[in-house]
Amino acid sequence: MYHINMVQVSSFEELISLIKDRLDIVDVVSQHVALKKSGANYWGLCPFHNDKKPSMSVSPSKGIYKCFSCGAGGDALHFLVKYQNREYKDVIFELADKFGFELPKKMNPNNENKNIKKDMLSACKKAADYYHEYLFSKTTDAKNGMTLLEKRDITNDIINNYHLGFAPNKYDSLYKELKKDFSDDILEKAGLILKSNNGGYIDRFRNRIIIPIRNENGETVAFGARAVKDGEAAKYLNSSESLIYNKSKILFGMDTALNAIKEQDGVIIMEGYFDVISAQSHGVKNAVGSCGTALTPEHVKLISRYTKSRRIYLSFDTDKAGVNATKRGSKVIKETLSAIGNVKQFDESHISAVSDGKYACEIRVVSPPQGKDPDEFIRTMGGEAYLEYAKNAPLLIDFLLNNTLKNKNDAKTPQEKAELVSQIIDILKDVNNKIIQSEYVKMVSSIIDVDEKALLKELTKADINQDYHYKLQDNNRNVTKSSQFEEKAQKNLLSVFLSTDSPLSYMRLNEMFPENIIRDEKLIIVKNTIDKLSCTVNNVSELIKELYTQFIEDESLTQILTDLIGYSEAFNHLEPEEFERAVKENISRLNKLYQEKEKKELQEKYKQVNDDEIEALKMQMLLRDKLKLRTGDK
Ligand SMILES: [Zn+2]
Repeated sequence: MYHINMVQVSSFEELISLIKDRLDIVDVVSQHVALKKSGANYWGLCPFHNDKKPSMSVSPSKGIYKCFSCGAGGDALHFLVKYQNREYKDVIFELADKFGFELPKKMNPNNENKNIKKDMLSACKKAADYYHEYLFSKTTDAKNGMTLLEKRDITNDIINNYHLGFAPNKYDSLYKELKKDFSDDILEKAGLILKSNNGGYIDRFRNRIIIPIRNENGETVAFGARAVKDGEAAKYLNSSESLIYNKSKILFGMDTALNAIKEQDGVIIMEGYFDVISAQSHGVKNAVGSCGTALTPEHVKLISRYTKSRRIYLSFDTDKAGVNATKRGSKVIKETLSAIGNVKQFDESHISAVSDGKYACEIRVVSPPQGKDPDEFIRTMGGEAYLEYAKNAPLLIDFLLNNTLKNKNDAKTPQEKAELVSQIIDILKDVNNKIIQSEYVKMVSSIIDVDEKALLKELTKADINQDYHYKLQDNNRNVTKSSQFEEKAQKNLLSVFLSTDSPLSYMRLNEMFPENIIRDEKLIIVKNTIDKLSCTVNNVSELIKELYTQFIEDESLTQILTDLIGYSEAFNHLEPEEFERAVKENISRLNKLYQEKEKKELQEKYKQVNDDEIEALKMQMLLRDKLKLRTGDK
C-alpha cells in the first residue's frame, strides 16, 4: 500500500511511540468489545475470560484497560496484541503500514524481502489462473481431472469459487508461460518449478488437480495437487514452505470461513482439501483444513483470534488414523491454550453440576458414523445433517470415553479388563472437578461392570501426584498470605511514582525512598526502569507510556504496571504535605512488616536450635535487640 504522506521513522522505539500516539484506548477496545460509559470510565465484558457481567474497565484518561476479574490489563497496544494473540512486532509493523510510517530497511527484517514476496504472490496468482483455465481446456488430461471432480460432486460453481485448476501432463508448460513475466529465481522460490537434471527447469506439478491455498487475506500462497489416478506414488503433493507459505500458520479455507467463524463463534477443523470444499459449499461455512500437516500451536492461535469462546470442533476421519489425529490435535489445542485456563469438561445439561463458566476453550468432536470422512458424509447426507451432528457433537472427554468403551466387549480376561480400566483412568484423571469426576466414575463403572469404589481408588492413585502438589501449596499458604500483604504494601508505595498529579518531583520522591525498601524481584525491575526513564520523560503520562513499551514483551510486568496505576489513584489530589505524609506512612508501615517478618524468622530459628545452648543464647540476644530496635528502647 502506498501513502501520500509517508512519515520517516528512525528507530523502533520512535515507531512504537508514534503508533501509541495514534491509538485511542476507547477506540481500540470498542472495536472488539461493547463499552458503556459509567462515570469517568467505560465498562464492558472482558474478552480474556468468560465474563458474565462487565468486569473490564477502560480509562480514557490513563489510556489503559483493566479486568477486575481475571486481572488482564495494559495499554491500547497491549490490548491489540493480546486480543489478536499475535507477536507484538507483527502488530506494530501492520499498524505502521496502516498509519503510513515508512521504516528504514534495516529495521524491518521482512522489508528486504518485501519485493520478492510481492513477486512470488503475483507469480502464484498467475499460476493459479493458468491452471484454472487449463482445467476447462477439454484436452485429454484436463478432461480426466474434470471427470474426477464431477465424481466428487464438484460443480462448476465450486470450481470457480475455489479457483480449482489442472496442471497439464507436460514437463514445462507452466514454466514456459510464466517465464515471460517472472525470473527463474522467483518461480523457483514460489515453489512452482524445480531444477531438472540437465540444468534447466521443469514444472513442479504435472497431471494433477490443483487446489490453490490462500492465506487469510485471500492471496494465493501455495498449491495442493491431487493425482488423477489412485495408483500414483503420492496422492497429494504440496508446495514446499516458502517466504509466503508457512504451512504451520496457514489453514486451508480460512479466507472464506473467517466471517462464519466470527459469527458462529466456533470453528470446525477438518483434514482434507475436499472435506473443507464440500463442507463450505454445503453450508458448513466455518470449516477449515489443516491440510498436509498436523495441527500446530500457530494454527490454534490463528483460530482463537477469531472465535472468542475458542469453541473448536475436530472433524477428522472416523477410522483409527482419524481418532489418533483427534487425540494429537486436542493435545496441541490444550497445550497452546493452557495459560488461559481449563478445557470445558462437561455439558451443563449432561451432568447436574455447577460450573464456574470459565474455560480456556471448548473442544468437541464431530464423528458421524456414516461415511469415512466429512466429505463423504456431507455429499451423501447433506450439509444440514452434518450441521445437526455438529450441534450435538460430544465434548472431547465424552468422545474419548465412548471411543474406549466401544471396545469393552473385547476385554474378557482380568488383564484385558485392567488395561481397559487404565485407559479410562487416563482420560478421567484430567477432569479437575471432583463432583464431575465422580459422576463419570459412576457412569463408567456401570457400563464396564467394575466396582465403582475400586475405580475411584485407582483414580485416586493416579491423582496422588496432583494431591501431593496441592498439599504442598496448602502448607505454604500462611507464608503466602503474609508475603502477599508485603507485596501489596510494596506496590502501594511504588505506585507514588505513577500518581498523575504528584506535587513532589521525581527527585524528591526518590530521596524519600530508603534503600532496600522495595524487595520484590519484579518490583525492583519496575523501580529500576522508572529510575532509568526519569531523566528522559517530561511527565508521568509519558513515563507510563514508556514503561508499557519497555515491558511490552513481559506479560507479568505489564500486569504489575497496570496494578500500580490503579494503586496510584489513592495518591491523587493530595496537598504536598498530605502527599509527603502518605509516602512516609507507607514507608514506615512497610518497614514494620519487614521487621515482623525478620522477628518471626528468628523465632523459628530459635525454636530449631534450642538444643544447642550457646547458639540459643546468641539467638535470644539477637531477638532482644530486634525488639528494642522496634520499640525504640536503648
Ligand atoms: Zn477478564
